[in-house]
Amino acid sequence: MNDQTPHRSNVPGDFYVAADCCTLCDLPRSCAPTLFDIVEEQHEGIPGTLPHCYVKRQPETPAETAQMLDAVRLSELQCIRYRGTDRLIQLTLADHGCAHLCDQLAPDLQPLAEAAQRLQALRDPQHPGDAAKRPWWRFW
Ligand code: SF4
Repeated sequence: MNDQTPHRSNVPGDFYVAADCCTLCDLPRSCAPTLFDIVEEQHEGIPGTLPHCYVKRQPETPAETAQMLDAVRLSELQCIRYRGTDRLIQLTLADHGCAHLCDQLAPDLQPLAEAAQRLQALRDPQHPGDAAKRPWWRFW
C-alpha cells in the first residue's frame, strides 16, 4: 500500500511527484520538459526557499507518455509515481523494474512490485524501503 503524499503543485491526473522528496536532480525536466516544472517553496525552520519538481501537465500523446515513463524510470529517488490503472502503463513500468511505483497495481503484477522492492533493498541496504518515503534531508 502506498503512503506517499502527492506534492500540492501537481496537476490532477495519473502521474504525480511525491512531496518532500526533492534533491533537485532535475531529471524529469530533461526527460519531459513540457510535463514537469520546478516550484520554490518555504519550509518551517529553513531560511529561504527550496525547489521541488512537480507534474505541470499530464501526458496526452504516446510520445509524451513515453517521456513520462522515462522520467519515472530514471528518477533516482523514485519520487514520480503512477496512480492510474492502465494495464499497458503498469506493465511497462513493471518491465522497467518500477512496478512498486504504481499505486493501484493489478494483483497479478504484485509479485513484480515485491521483486522491485527487494532489488531496492539490495542496492541500498540501509534504507530498504521505497526511496521516496525518505524525507529529502536524509539524503545528505
Ligand atoms: S525527480 Fe525527485 S529529486 Fe528529481 S527534481 Fe523531481 S522531485 Fe526532485
